[in-house]
Order: sequence, then structure tokens, then C-alpha cells
Amino acid sequence: MAQPIDIVSLYPKDMNIYGDTGNVLTIERRLTLYGYAPRIHMVNQRDPWPGRVDIILGGGGQDTGQKKIIDDLYARADTLRALAADGVPMLMICGLYQLFGEYFETVDGARLDGIGIIGAYTVGRDARMIGNLVEHSDEFGTIIGYENHSGQTFLRDGVRPFGTVDHDGMGNNGEDHTEGARVHNVIGTYMHGSLLPKNPAVSDFLIRTAVERRYGTFAPGGTPTQRDELTRIDTVAQHARDVAQV
Ligand code: GLN
Repeated sequence: MAQPIDIVSLYPKDMNIYGDTGNVLTIERRLTLYGYAPRIHMVNQRDPWPGRVDIILGGGGQDTGQKKIIDDLYARADTLRALAADGVPMLMICGLYQLFGEYFETVDGARLDGIGIIGAYTVGRDARMIGNLVEHSDEFGTIIGYENHSGQTFLRDGVRPFGTVDHDGMGNNGEDHTEGARVHNVIGTYMHGSLLPKNPAVSDFLIRTAVERRYGTFAPGGTPTQRDELTRIDTVAQHARDVAQV
């Protein structure tokens, strides 16, 4: 019997723009190909929280979507903070990345307090930061995606970025070349596009961390056909990263 891994897709109804749902599909598919049994729990506003959570995936949203889910996020803040401190791997894109920080002041002057898992704050500005994003990290190599945000995010001293923008794109704020944040096993990032299909190293970090936390070791099984499929999709992803860098 394949071992289950429980994945929360956080606010898929209101926070899912620019292909972020692809991150959930990618984690589900890769876990299956590795011989595990993924179970997806969609958690929208007021939905029950599952008893077991191994990975949490959240997407981006317009300012209006962020305002819609914020009260529900506050209600879940203690749970999310405890899980983050306990090492649960999480991926929060754009709108939810901002709300995992300290606060987001929108371009129309509204202030949304965040839940403070990531030491960062965000201030909206008139000119949106839109376009392809290419960055590098020692941990994941080249990471590629697409950004579209008005918020400029600034990391507090000592907070590690997810990557460094040195090729294409604006990143956290268009000023200091940082992009995203990396706290406990939480990744916050502006990378839409979707991120995970094109960046298998990031998917495998989330998967490996989750499986090791739950079962002690990551022991991918899978049939030869499944291993072939992984090789094929990783080759396509590599191609996407190669062309993004030229
Ligand atoms: N509404 C936020 C902003 O514009 C987040 C956008 C997004 O998730 N792409 O900064």
C-alpha cells in the first residue's frame, strides 16, 4: 500500500491566479510517480482543517481576493504558525506570501496585517512589477517564473531570500535584487507561472521534507514507466529553464 501524504491547497477559490493551481497538480503527480499516495484537501474559507497536514500550498490573488480571505486566515494563524515552526513545508505565492509577512499596505491605502510567519512587509505602489522572473539560489539552482504584483516587499534583517534576481525581473521590490523568502521550511515567492512544473528541485524539496517528516526517510519507489515519465517531465522543465536564461 502506498503511503499517504496529505496536502492542503489553501484558498484555491480566491487565491489561484496565473496558473498557481499547477503547483498542486505537480506535487500530486510527482508524489504518485515516486510511489506515494497524495491526498489533496482544498481549504477555502470556513472549511474544516484536515487532521493531518504534510504540505501546504497557497497561491496569489488580487488585492480584493486577499481582503476576502484575510479574516479566515487570521482564524487559522495559530495553526499555520505552529505547523511552520514544526517544519511543515509550505509554498506561498505572491498574495499569500505577502500575507504570511507582517503587513501589506495596498496601493489604495488599506492595511492588511499579515500572520507574521515571514519577517517581511509589503507596500503597494502604482507601477506594477510584471514580467518574466529568473533567479538563482545555492539551494535550488536557477529558478524561473513570472511575476505580477503591485506590492514591494522588504525583508527584515537576517531573513534569507528564496533567490537572487540577477538576470530578468524585479523580485521582492525592484531595488535590492532579493526575491521571496525562506523561513523554516516555508518558501514565500512572487513566482507564478506555475512555479513547480518548471522547477522540479523546488517540488522535490517540498516532497522530500514532507515525506521525511512523516515517515523518517524518503524512499521513492515507482515503476520503470513512472520513472521514465519523471525523466521526461524533468527534461521539459530543464528546457524551460535553459531558454529563460538566454
Ligand atoms: N495583490 C497583490 C499585489 O498586487 C498580489 C498579486 C499577486 O498575487 N499576483 O501585489
